[in-house]
Amino acid sequence: MKQIYKITYPTGKIYIGKDSVGSYRYFGSPDMQVINQDFATLPQSIHQDYTIRKQILWESEDCSEAQLSAKEVEFIHKFRSNDPEVGYNRWPKFNKQAPNVTIEENPMKEHSVQVTQVVSDITCDICGQSVVKETQKSNMANLDNFTEYARLVAEFGYGSKRDGEKFQFDFCEDCFDELLGKINELKAQQMS
Ligand SMILES: [Zn+2]
Repeated sequence: MKQIYKITYPTGKIYIGKDSVGSYRYFGSPDMQVINQDFATLPQSIHQDYTIRKQILWESEDCSEAQLSAKEVEFIHKFRSNDPEVGYNRWPKFNKQAPNVTIEENPMKEHSVQVTQVVSDITCDICGQSVVKETQKSNMANLDNFTEYARLVAEFGYGSKRDGEKFQFDFCEDCFDELLGKINELKAQQMS
């Protein structure tokens, strides 16, 4: 389940984030120093006994990562959580003059972020064809251990704009070849 959540801290400020997997554990990663500074102004009794509230603002079983990112930005603007006086989001940068700017999502991103769960078949995230040969399928009950295809996993950690996000793509051989071609094209562009 993909979710947009709102965290409310005892400082009264909020943080809005997105979660690609729907983890109950995840509370986002706003800047620790900023929150610590705010907490320092709270009475000692609160330092020792406090509640951080998580509310799900929006969720979807099957939206794309690009749609999820767009929703996150929408809610950040709606709740003004990027205004330092209101919340801990520092991106997109708060603009007092034009607080409701929506950011145009890169249309390429939509194309490149479909996640396929592996159970009885593994399909290519580009062409949608199975990456498993029919003969192999009938020989294997569970394809969890099937490794003869290209898989790309990207995880972003603390400090990244995509903090906590994980992407996974599977490719058939043909599409992988094309992807390699694209990468080489980009490399060539960088060098020229
Ligand atoms: Zn393919």
